[in-house]
Amino acid sequence: MPTSLKEKDPSPPGGEKATASCSNCGDRSCYRNDKKYPSFCLTLTNKKGADETKALYNSDSFEGKLLKAAAEVEAEFYGRMTRVEETVTLAKKMGFTKVGIASCFALMDETAILAECLRSADLDPKAVICKIGSIDKCDLGVPDGMKLMPGHKEATCNPVLQARALNEWGSELNVVMGLCVGHDCLFNKNSEAPVTTLVVKDRVLGHNPVQAFYLSKSFYARILNYKRYPKSRLAKK
Ligand code: SF4
Repeated sequence: MPTSLKEKDPSPPGGEKATASCSNCGDRSCYRNDKKYPSFCLTLTNKKGADETKALYNSDSFEGKLLKAAAEVEAEFYGRMTRVEETVTLAKKMGFTKVGIASCFALMDETAILAECLRSADLDPKAVICKIGSIDKCDLGVPDGMKLMPGHKEATCNPVLQARALNEWGSELNVVMGLCVGHDCLFNKNSEAPVTTLVVKDRVLGHNPVQAFYLSKSFYARILNYKRYPKSRLAKK
């Protein structure tokens, strides 16, 4: 088994019919054009797309403006600004005023601090909690026994309403604070404003999911063998 990207075979595992994927590339020459490109290279097979997006970024488009603002944040503050500061700086560079925060119930303390950070930069934050609407899980057909506290009112997360509330307010940028996996998908899909994620929920690893990769050769080796998980947990819904 390869121990580093460098040792990987340059052709896709599984032969020509396998999905071409940058995760199978050891050289990543697309960054500095200093090594060889594999036969399945996505840069080579997306030349038309590269030309089209280059034109888009060079036009007066929102995409062009945002890409350049992000590049400025990276260039000016590389390794010196925290992600919180980078997020605030990006909003300022884009000339945004109204910044929405889609927050998990469990991260409201951190959300209050983020709102303070934004206000200190003369931005106008509005947080919407995941439990907005207060719809009981049982009203959506979830058995009472599947609640964290059976027998009690337990509101479902409502990422679509979170997005709609921020859309109605007219947020210009939305910041995700720890939405559950799947709920974040629904929020992103329904948000009219661009979405940036500040906190990714991981209930086991202190909201730092990359730790599972760092420990994938030891304590979290199980993540490399999904088929070993109990079948009952893997059943399709
Ligand atoms: S675009 Fe090509 S060179 Fe870049 S990582 Fe993907 S396969 Fe490798």
